Amino acid sequence: MPVDSAVMLRWYASEARDLPWRHEGVTGWQILMSEVMLQQTPVVRVAPIWEQWVRRWPVPSAMAASSQAEVLRAWGKLGYPRRALRLHECAGVLAAEHDDRVPDDVDVLLSLPGIGAYTARAVACFAYGQRVPVVDTNVRRVVARAVHGNAEPGNPSTRRDLADVEGLLPRTRARAATFSAALMELGATVCTARNPDCDRCPLPECAWVQAGRPAHDGPARRVQKFAGTDRQVRGKLMAVLRDSDTPVERPALDQVWLTDPGQRDRALHSLLVDGLVEQTDDGRFALAGEGAR
Ligand code: SF4
Repeated sequence: MPVDSAVMLRWYASEARDLPWRHEGVTGWQILMSEVMLQQTPVVRVAPIWEQWVRRWPVPSAMAASSQAEVLRAWGKLGYPRRALRLHECAGVLAAEHDDRVPDDVDVLLSLPGIGAYTARAVACFAYGQRVPVVDTNVRRVVARAVHGNAEPGNPSTRRDLADVEGLLPRTRARAATFSAALMELGATVCTARNPDCDRCPLPECAWVQAGRPAHDGPARRVQKFAGTDRQVRGKLMAVLRDSDTPVERPALDQVWLTDPGQRDRALHSLLVDGLVEQTDDGRFALAGEGAR
């Protein structure tokens, strides 16, 4: 058995990082906030912002009572700010329709704004200890290597990926939830994308290692660059708006990206389309919800 659950549980007990959202007493809502933040942002950048959010918005109704702009400002530089808007929307639904709590049922979680297949199962598992497969990029990579003997996972397939991990889960609920956390932790800290540290790995029967570490034979993994992308320009435009208490004139935004005005206009347009930015009646720009002031 390339992935021995008892071995994984022992490894997790001694090696897991002490992350604040893993502490006793953290609520489903607080775990949901961490999962949304962690989807595209590293732990070190998420942790301090998450701690602030837990103090500021301990329950969904607290966030729902804040404006979109307040949430976007608090999101700061975490990137992909649409996540913050969706979480704010989700907070409103939880406050109004779910007694200010995050539900524990995967299907109900999936019906909430901005909650996809990964987040729903992560919350059910990590907040409520449910026996559900949780599959993120790290888990897919560990399964590809340890179980299938491939250097890289194939294209994502929710059904196949969930079935793969379901087949590895221990029977009992409590062990299954910790096993899921352990699988994810292994992918995040040991079986990493570029440099798997197999000497530190608790899985000596890993199929990929046993097969002599065959090279990846599919298309090369795309490395996401940031410099010069529309995403960088969007970030710079958002920073100007976050830092201003009042709507800003167009020239203040134009200043942030002089090298390619076409790209800058495209980025600003996309922020308007995404509902992250609004334009006032007199043509100035503001964060969502602040354009009417
Ligand atoms: S032995 Fe190496 S490749 Fe296999 S699961 Fe462990 S870290 Fe990953």
